[in-house]
Parts: sequence; C-alpha cells; structure tokens
Amino acid sequence: MGGEMRSPVTNPKRVTILGSTGSIGCSTLDIIAHNPDSFVVEALTAFTNVNLLAQQARRYRPSYVAIGDETLKGKLTDALAGTNIKVGSGAEAIIEAAEQPSDLVMAAIVGAAGLKPTLQAVRRGITVALANKECLVCAGSLFLREVETAGATLLPVDSEHNAIFQVFDFERSDAVEKIILTASGGPFRTMGKSDMEKVTPEQAVKHPTWDMGAKISIDSATLMNKGLEMIEADYLFPIVESQIEVLVHPQSVIHSMVAYRDGSVLAQLGSPDMRTPIAYTLGWPNRMDTPSPRLDLAEIGQLSFEPPDTERFPALKLARQALQSGGTAPTILNAANEMAVEGFLTKRIGFLDIARVVEATLCKVQGEKVENLEHVHVVDEDARDAAAHIIARI
Ligand code: NAD
Ligand code: MG
Repeated sequence: MGGEMRSPVTNPKRVTILGSTGSIGCSTLDIIAHNPDSFVVEALTAFTNVNLLAQQARRYRPSYVAIGDETLKGKLTDALAGTNIKVGSGAEAIIEAAEQPSDLVMAAIVGAAGLKPTLQAVRRGITVALANKECLVCAGSLFLREVETAGATLLPVDSEHNAIFQVFDFERSDAVEKIILTASGGPFRTMGKSDMEKVTPEQAVKHPTWDMGAKISIDSATLMNKGLEMIEADYLFPIVESQIEVLVHPQSVIHSMVAYRDGSVLAQLGSPDMRTPIAYTLGWPNRMDTPSPRLDLAEIGQLSFEPPDTERFPALKLARQALQSGGTAPTILNAANEMAVEGFLTKRIGFLDIARVVEATLCKVQGEKVENLEHVHVVDEDARDAAAHIIARI
C-alpha cells in the first residue's frame, strides 16, 4: 500500500504520535517502552489532557509537544519547565507536530479533527500508521491521492484492516473473492430494541472485549464502527463494496478474513489487544515483541459467529448505503455520526436516536461528487449544522 520506501529510516526509528493521550496513543507509547532501543519519540499531541501529555513528555523526551486547547498552553509550559521540549498550542501546533522530522507518524486523533494533521504527515512521504478511520471515511479518495503523490506508506492500525493487510495477496488481488470484517457485536448484541431505547452512555461505553476511547466504544455499540470500517476497507484494499461482508464474532479472536476464489479463507487471530496491530505497524516490515496476552484457544474453547442484525443496528445499513452512493455521502454520514455520538454522550438524545440522526442528516444534505479538500470541509460543516438542528428537535 502506498509508495516505495524513500529515504532510509533511521535507527532508532523516530516516531510522532498524534493523539498520544488517547487509548491508541497510550498503547503506542507502551510498545515503545517495551522496545526502548528501537524508537525515539519525536513529537506528541493531545487535545485537553495536559497532565498526561506533560507526564508522557517528561518520560519520552520528544523535541516537540502540542496541546490542541490553546488555553492550556501556559499549564503545559509550566509543567515542562527545565526541559528543552518545545511547546505549541492550538490546531496549527498539532499540524506542526505532524511536520516534525519523524520516520513514522501514528495517526491516533479521534474524528475528522484528525484529517488535517494526518494529511500533513502523509505529505512528508513517510510511513503513516493510521488508527484514525474517520479521516479516511470523511475524505478517502483525496487522502489516497495525497498518499500516492507523496509516495507515503499507509499502514492500517484498525485491528480488522491490520488483519486483512496481513493476509491479503496484493500481488494477486483478482484472486480475492471477498473480505470478511468481524465485529464483536458490542454490549447490546443480544438486547431487544425496546431496552436499547433506554440504554445510558455508561452502559454503552463498556465494551465486552476491547478497551477503547468513548467515541469508538459508542460506535461499536451501534455497529456504526463496523459501518465506518466497511468504508475504510473499501479505500484501503483493491476490492469493491459488494466484496465486503460483516460477520458478528463475539470473542474478537479472529480479527478479519480474506476469502479467495479457490475456497481458501485466510484469517489473522490474536487476543483482543490493540498493541499487536500497533506493533505490527511500528515494526513493519519486521515483527517485534509485545506484552500482549498470548492467544490460548484451548482455554477459549469455542468461537462463535452470527450474521449482523441490521434491523436492530441500522447504522450498518446506513453506512453501506453511503458507501454505495459514494461522493460526499460518507463525509455526511461521518459528520452526522460524530454529532449524534456527542449528543448521546451528553445525554441530549437516546441511543437509538444516533442512527435516526444520521439517517435524517443523509436525507437532508445532498450528497455530491467530491471536488477538493475545501469542498470536503464545507460538506462536513453543513452536515454538522444539519445534524445539530435534528438533535435539537429530538
Ligand atoms: P481516544 O478518545 O482515547 O483518544 C483520542 C485522542 O485524540 C486523544 O489524545 C485526544 O487528546 C485527541 N483529540 C481528540 N479530539 C481532538 C481534536 N479536536 N484535536 C486534536 N486532538 C484531539 O480515542 P482512541 O480510542 O484512542 O481512538 C483514536 C482513533 O483510533 C479513532 O479514530 C478510533 O476510531 C481509532 N481506533 C481506535 C481503536 C481503539 O482500540 N481505541 C481501535 C481501532 C481504531
Ligand atoms: Mg476496528
């Protein structure tokens, strides 16, 4: 995926983490801590968690740190007094962090807010480990064009896409019949619809198998996460929409599969621990040690599978429709979903309203052909406005 290797990567590898205080960011630093001779940290960024960012900076000694919330610059500067770490603040500073001279950028900001800094990293023609799926959903075709132009290498961190990347025969992609994205089914996999109407954010963020940030946990509960991942897969792999299947697999052991025309199905398995796919991208093309729990299939005993229920989880259907429509439909879907998840987390709407808001926004904002990045930002803003109005009326 992406271009050939360009300038030789330094040893140790210089790594920048966009969103270092989040779930993926912390796991990335954990892998670096376990392989201290292989990596140096170049830059770290966070939005508001200034205490954790300062703590990380004191431990990993990057040359640059950026805090998104400008009002926290003084606090961060004070916390790093006596070090020679440069401090920046605001959205521009996060882009500046992406511009620091690193060999690899871990893109782990949540939401479309990660698009600009991630693109800036791509433009440097380096390796970008992509956790931030929303930026691909929001601007996939433009994003990939930039990857190609810059000769950057894009490595998927999302466990399903990382699994597919490991077993996909890119040399013979016409031998691939379909890809099968596995989904845990989330915390409400077996719950009836009337009970789902009443679930609280506290219940929804408790994921049965993965420990993740709030937004993706809610997305996993609605299955919108799998919807976003179908779109992500469509961009990342040489396949078409009809070749993407979703299969519910509650144990989260098989992270995804590729089915070939001869009937063979290749899968990647592992414990549900993001440090494995993260390490795969940090070390690629080499493999490295991780502290992830080893998979013990005898102890697990049984793996189970079931088809997804798009009646109780309509987000999956909406995402597929957006993928089929193409153009700016996925941009609108993503923007509306970000607003709806925020509305649910702040208790302004109910759980099942999330998909309703997304559906109503898709009806209200006309999908169109993607022109350029500016156009994507306008569509994203319009969809957020439309979703905000819909949320206010609920
Ligand atoms: P998180 O909420 O735990 O962390 C998000 C990070 O982004 C934090 O460091 C935060 O400071 C930063 N951030 C948030 N808003 C920002 C803004 N407006 N500007 C700049 N920085 C901002 O999220 P996470 O669970 O680590 O997920 C990060 C991304 O990785 C998401 O796109 C998610 O879908 C994807 N992902 C996560 C997991 C997982 O296991 N957590 C798995 C697969 C994919
Ligand atoms: Mg995933």
